[in-house]
Amino acid sequence: MKRLLAIVVVIVCCVGGVAERAHWRNRAPLWPNAKYTVQDRDRAVEGGMRFIYAIARDPAAFRDNGSDLLFAFQNIATTNGNPQLAALAWTMGHERAVEWRRLNPRIPEKAEVGTVTDLIFGSDTANRLGVPDHDLDEALRRQAANLSPTDYLGFDPEHEPPPSDFPKPCRVCGLQNARGVRFCVRCKTKLSMNSRHALFLDALVTTYSGELFGASLGGRYSDVLRWLPQMRPYPPHRQGDWAYYDAVYAITHVVYTFNHYNLSKIAPNCFPDEFEYLKSNLPAAIRDHDPETLGEYGDSLRAFGMTFSDARLREAVEYLLSAQNRDGSWGNLSDKDSYDRYHTTWTAVAAIQDFQWTQVLTCPTK
Ligand SMILES: [Zn+2]
Repeated sequence: MKRLLAIVVVIVCCVGGVAERAHWRNRAPLWPNAKYTVQDRDRAVEGGMRFIYAIARDPAAFRDNGSDLLFAFQNIATTNGNPQLAALAWTMGHERAVEWRRLNPRIPEKAEVGTVTDLIFGSDTANRLGVPDHDLDEALRRQAANLSPTDYLGFDPEHEPPPSDFPKPCRVCGLQNARGVRFCVRCKTKLSMNSRHALFLDALVTTYSGELFGASLGGRYSDVLRWLPQMRPYPPHRQGDWAYYDAVYAITHVVYTFNHYNLSKIAPNCFPDEFEYLKSNLPAAIRDHDPETLGEYGDSLRAFGMTFSDARLREAVEYLLSAQNRDGSWGNLSDKDSYDRYHTTWTAVAAIQDFQWTQVLTCPTK
């Protein structure tokens, strides 16, 4: 308990002004004649982090999204180019990781696949935030080995691409029906299918996270990524159309899983169609005034090497900086879903933050 109190005191003392106490050089504009300075940007990032931390300290929100919230702090801590902001993110994440361990001491009886993968995501991130639990990790690895690729991903990436006939859970009774079933076997409700792009995204993230943790969650990451050519072509930009969003998020998660969530840059010729799709749709994404999607465009295009010398990226970053809410968040203030509130804020932070990239990755082997 003492340790927890001490950490809270540290966070309260630092939260007031990491960006405020920034070096005088940070008063420089973000680019020549920019409306905003480096300090404005870092202040906006800090405001976003404070907002995410407030959500993470809400018990219900943390119970529902604890592993993802830990990952937000761990990710900002390892990628942000401002050492003070990175340290603040780590302190916030470490304090929440202690709480996550308290809430998740063991695998519940009869845990479903989603519970196991979520515990793996959370435990792996808590380890990285300096709060390890080797006994839980070992139990999770044993449990993970009992499940099949289809349990995890809905398909087996070693043998087939993401399919178009894997239904979403029944919207009435919640049952996950088998491949090819069109009406829920329990309640006869008509089912809707997962898009191939959504399954691809999910498989990228799940297999990538499993390999990081040291457990196979449905197969090898490289086996999923090799289906990328079959995910093309991508549907045209259309605001409000889930086919478009699923495609954008599949592409951005090719970037994130390949560059370890923004630890490195990627040569655009590794994924030329994906780079071109994001680049050509960026102006439309700015016009949509949707910080969640625009945020993912921002850090992905910057990972591909786009800089503030590109007018489209300047416009995207200026829009995001102008669209921050007074409470530090981005997105719809009246949205009651805490996931939407913090996740949109996180993606906006990622799009505008300074990165500590050190290398450009070599392309995947075909
Ligand atoms: Zn049903």
